[in-house]
Amino acid sequence: MPAPTHSKVVIIGSGPAGLTAAVYAARANLQPVVFAGHMYGGQLMLTTEVENYPGFPQGIMGPELMEAFRQQAERFGAVIHNVDVTEVDFGARPFRIKAYDDEYTADAVIVATGASARWLDIPGEARLRGRGVSTCATCDGAFFREKHIVVVGGGDSAMEEAIFLTRFGSKVTVIHRRETLRASKIMAERALAHEKIGFIWNTAVVEVIGEDATGALKLQNLVTGEESIIEADALFIAIGHDPNTAIFRGQLDLDAAGYIVSDDGVRTNVEGVFVAGDVYDVRYKQAITAAGSGCKAAIDVEKYLESLEALHATAAAR
Ligand code: NAP
Repeated sequence: MPAPTHSKVVIIGSGPAGLTAAVYAARANLQPVVFAGHMYGGQLMLTTEVENYPGFPQGIMGPELMEAFRQQAERFGAVIHNVDVTEVDFGARPFRIKAYDDEYTADAVIVATGASARWLDIPGEARLRGRGVSTCATCDGAFFREKHIVVVGGGDSAMEEAIFLTRFGSKVTVIHRRETLRASKIMAERALAHEKIGFIWNTAVVEVIGEDATGALKLQNLVTGEESIIEADALFIAIGHDPNTAIFRGQLDLDAAGYIVSDDGVRTNVEGVFVAGDVYDVRYKQAITAAGSGCKAAIDVEKYLESLEALHATAAAR
């Protein structure tokens, strides 16, 4: 078995948080190693136009923004591996990080693994995934030209997906479980005013119907309990996200929803393991706040490593 590759800092995750941490750590000469996952870039890779990231007055496409983040980190020497971390051991020092059969060690780790789209867990959903059922409008929207597309959810993601999907569908119907939207005012108003978008309120999708492709949805009115069926060629689910923390269970403190617990939004319960972005942020979840927290984590890692070096130097001088 070859000796594990050691680095001063390993960053797990490559969304705005992870790659901003990489830019800062690389510019601090820490030669960070980033585990980007098999699909780098995080949730912005699955989005369309980002209108609220400062510095882009005309907006920028999510994947384009993340490619720029990546190039900026690499320019300063960050090493980015497009692989998933499969196991960590934060009980030992240096920390151990496994990516399948390859083992790495690090003096400090920044966890920036973000969050993944939620599914409804209803009959037909898993079977028809990729056959009309999707959580990614940018990936799959173009398959449904001139079709009836349904979007589930009442937040910004659902509004964004619905507006984007009007480029393809003959009609887009948003189904929401309440009668008021959670989305920001500007996104809600845009969707409500769109001539191709209709709304069904107080309603849950309870089944996806179809053999080889989505053909209809069974709905339930949550006020009356009444069930009905509507024809639909596609179902895009945009009901929020769950944090990607399975590999940290038992290693880091997590809250009941699985988010990493952090008192100051930078440190975890393990000294030397830091956190950034949506994996702990239950409140803001924006690209810009994730990037900001990646910056904070990298600055604190730098300070932490300096204090470690000072300790080692004192111990050596004794
Ligand atoms: P979100 O704000 O948590 O909204 C999730 C929506 O899905 C809510 O309307 C919720 O209903 C509904 N929902 C949750 N579980 C459901 C279930 N099992 N069945 C049916 N409906 C369900 O999530 P998000 O829209 O993904 O947004 C997350 C964050 O990213 C927010 O802070 C948002 O502002 C931000 N974001 C911003 C933009 C932008 O600015 N362009 C775009 C996308 C996301 P209830 O309302 O009843 O809870």
